[in-house]
Formats: sequence, C-alpha cells, structure tokens
Amino acid sequence: MIIVIRPHTPPEKVEEVIQEVRRLGYTPAPIRGKLQTVVAAVGDETTNATLESLTALPQVERVLRVQKRYKLASRESRPEGSVVDAGGVIIGGGSFVLMAGPCSVESEEQLLVTARAVKAAGASILRGGAYKPRTSPYEFQGLGPEGLRLLAKARAETGLRIITEVLGERDVEEVAATADILQIGARNAQNFQLLIAAARTGKPVLLKRGMSMKIEEWLLAAEYILAHGNPNVILCERGIRTFETHTRNTLDLAAVASAKLETHLPVIVDPSQGCGRADLVRVLCRGAAAVGADGLLVEVHPNPAEALSDGQQQLDPAAFAALVEELRPFASAAGRSI
Ligand code: PEP
Ligand code: MN
Repeated sequence: MIIVIRPHTPPEKVEEVIQEVRRLGYTPAPIRGKLQTVVAAVGDETTNATLESLTALPQVERVLRVQKRYKLASRESRPEGSVVDAGGVIIGGGSFVLMAGPCSVESEEQLLVTARAVKAAGASILRGGAYKPRTSPYEFQGLGPEGLRLLAKARAETGLRIITEVLGERDVEEVAATADILQIGARNAQNFQLLIAAARTGKPVLLKRGMSMKIEEWLLAAEYILAHGNPNVILCERGIRTFETHTRNTLDLAAVASAKLETHLPVIVDPSQGCGRADLVRVLCRGAAAVGADGLLVEVHPNPAEALSDGQQQLDPAAFAALVEELRPFASAAGRSI
C-alpha cells in the first residue's frame, strides 16, 4: 500500500503516519519528494490489518493499493521520478547521462586514452570491467585489482566517475571502494545475495536486465536493492536473447518505454551489448534517447580491432564523439539534456 501525505505536512505529522503503519504490522518506507512525501507500507495485507483506516488522519491525502509485486520500485510510490547521485553526477530528472569506456580495462594507456577522449566528447562516467564475466573460462577474465587501481587513477586524472562490474559477493567491498556505481551484469541480475550485498554498500547500483528476464522480474530484482535500504538504483536495458541471431541480442526499446511508465527509477540503455555490432550502435543510441531513456552505457576502445573483449561492438573515440553530437536533438526532443 502507498500512503500519500498532503503537501506541506510538517515532519512530526509524517512521523505519526510512519508510527501508525508500523503499529499495524507493516514496514514503513518513507519516500520524501520535493513537494510531497509518500510512505510505502511493505507487508502482507492478507494477514495484517487494513491500512485504509489511515485516511482518517487529516495529513493523509489518500491510501493507494499497489497490486504490483514491486512496491518501492513502482511509479506510484514516486510519481515525479527519482534521481541518483553518483559522486556528484546526477542520473535521472531530465539529464541524459553518458557512460562510456572500454568493455575491459586492459592497460593504463588504453584506459587513460579512452577516458580523456570520452570526457572530451561529453561523457561524465567512465566504464571499464576489471572483473569480467566471460562465457568461456579461456577468455580474458579482466585485470582484477590492477584494473580497479587503473580506474581510480583515471578518475583522479579526469574527474570522470567510475562504473565497474562486481561479479560476486566476495568482491563487493573491494569493488565498492573504487566504484562510484556498482554494475550488476546481465548474468547476475537475479543473484539475489549479490544484489543484497551491493545494496548494503549504499553505493548507486546499475542493474542490467538479465538476458531472459521479463520486465516484472527485472523490477523485482531492483526491488531487492530498494528493500534492503538502498534507493540509488539505475536500470539498464542491454538486450535480451531471442530467436534472432543477426544481432548478438535483441535490444528491447519497448522495455525501456514500458519501464519508464512502471517505475520511477532512471533507465539507461547499453546498445553495445544490445546489438553486438559497432555499425548499429550509433542509430540505437538515437532510438534509446527518443524513447525516453535517461542515458547510455557505450563501449569505446582506442583500437577496437585489438580489444581483449567485445571488439566487434566497441566504437573508436572519433565515432563516439560523432555519435554524441548527433544525439543531442534526439535527447532534447525527449526532454533531456546531454
Ligand atoms: C559489459 O558491460 O561488458 C557486460 C558484460 O555486460 P552484460 O552484463 O550486459 O553482458
Ligand atoms: Mn562488453
């Protein structure tokens, strides 16, 4: 259930509602917006008392029944949309964020050359995998701790914020010590223990959509992070597996538009994993902006032909810069600014 408090209610009156929700046997999760506070009440409505009685309190505007299984993630719980602050870079709320960088961190030179180039093109967040989830155990697995050290160095030099993947629970603390955003990859999107551990760091978490995940399952995975006390969740559509093999995955832009309706969380798009082909990334970025995404995660490498992972889908810095310039009118048509 969602309890909507009247605008301009003083904090002690909001607290009264929170206490009452608790007394009735639910866990209250207040969401404080600029204009209005709403309190999500999490609990089993079949065994607990009804919350409808709260409408008797003068500070309560309405009590809404949320039929959806995701409550904290639902658009109703925060109609104005949420923003995530990643080390001072704001994601959501009308901005169009560019996260770019190599698939994998390979060397100091590779990372710093890329970081400088993507920054000059307009990116504010540098991506790069230090721990890589590779399909084959014989493929490059990432530089691990050395990769994290290089990411920290790139941040110190460029001021870009860092997003990097955390593969397992035991790496969470180590990765969170460097990352401004923890990336949960498609293969781990329903690894609930990992989601909980990532939530507990308090760092923003970017949750990729699993390759066979329904939208509801994706939002329920986000709900795990929210329900464990971390409101800083960004969703990322990265393509799903379908019968089509012409592209590596099928980038589901309808899921982006749909997620924007269903949830208040920022939604970004990764067209690189989404299609697996450098020649399509540019137009898919435009499509993502046009359907209302809040930003992009794009793979950029100084020399894609020599990349240790995902070379076929990485852009060189010049192609990325051209893409950003072309993108501006698409983002602004959708009410976002780069
Ligand atoms: C990546 O971003 O390089 C990656 C491995 O992504 P995904 O988890 O979407 O496959
Ligand atoms: Mn990749």
